Amino acid sequence: MIAQDGETSKKESSLLKIRRCVMNNFGDDDSGQLTEMMDLLGVISDLEAQIKQAEEKLKKCAIDNVRRLVEEGGDHSAIYWICAANGMAKVVKDEYLNTTGVNLVPKSLYAPIYCRDCGSKGEHVIKSISGLKDWFSKSVYPLFTCDDCEQKQAEARKKHSELRRSREAELANMPYREYLKTPEWKDRRVRALSFAKHRCQLCNASGVQLDVHHRTYADRGNEKMRDLIVLCHPCHSKHHDKGGY
Ligand SMILES: [Zn+2]
Ligand SMILES: [Zn+2]
Ligand SMILES: [Zn+2]
Repeated sequence: MIAQDGETSKKESSLLKIRRCVMNNFGDDDSGQLTEMMDLLGVISDLEAQIKQAEEKLKKCAIDNVRRLVEEGGDHSAIYWICAANGMAKVVKDEYLNTTGVNLVPKSLYAPIYCRDCGSKGEHVIKSISGLKDWFSKSVYPLFTCDDCEQKQAEARKKHSELRRSREAELANMPYREYLKTPEWKDRRVRALSFAKHRCQLCNASGVQLDVHHRTYADRGNEKMRDLIVLCHPCHSKHHDKGGY
């Protein structure tokens, strides 16, 4: 307390010194507003000293409580996390380590999170002060995918790829004329034409009727662009005895 009072009066006297110096340079202000400002600065100094004092008290109180709980075999985690929320957990931890040689290991905190698909509640584990800060810096709860939804999605993906594989097998094995009527081929044909910018890829003719010719049938049903070539009728005829596909 004596130290605090000493501190306060030192601040006050330095404020008075500043005031005297300012007045000497610029003259006194009759409105009294400068005096009011000086008074307010004095109030701020007093409050700052009180905050510092309260922080010291809080630190001592926290460390006493932690020490008592550890001795009694109780859980000090709540105290640790309260201090963490006030930016003082490290101070308490360091002080405790210094005085007892024991490293505090607080229990994890659990924060609520919600599944992005079904909305079910889950838990986000906070293990450290930086984890806590990170959590509070988020403006919305982060979403996650729960195990049930994860499993459902994996099953759906598996089913989808099975369906795709069986459709590919079907496309590869159906009669060729039938294949040319499928939406898959029609889609690929349109893509090949657009890839070739609607020009014959041999003679560069445009504005003529174009065919999409298979260079290979190895990947029929799942053709790559390099498997196809866009040709005008005359060029296409050179590839086949009678034109055709
Ligand atoms: Zn879910
Ligand atoms: Zn051509
Ligand atoms: Zn052809």
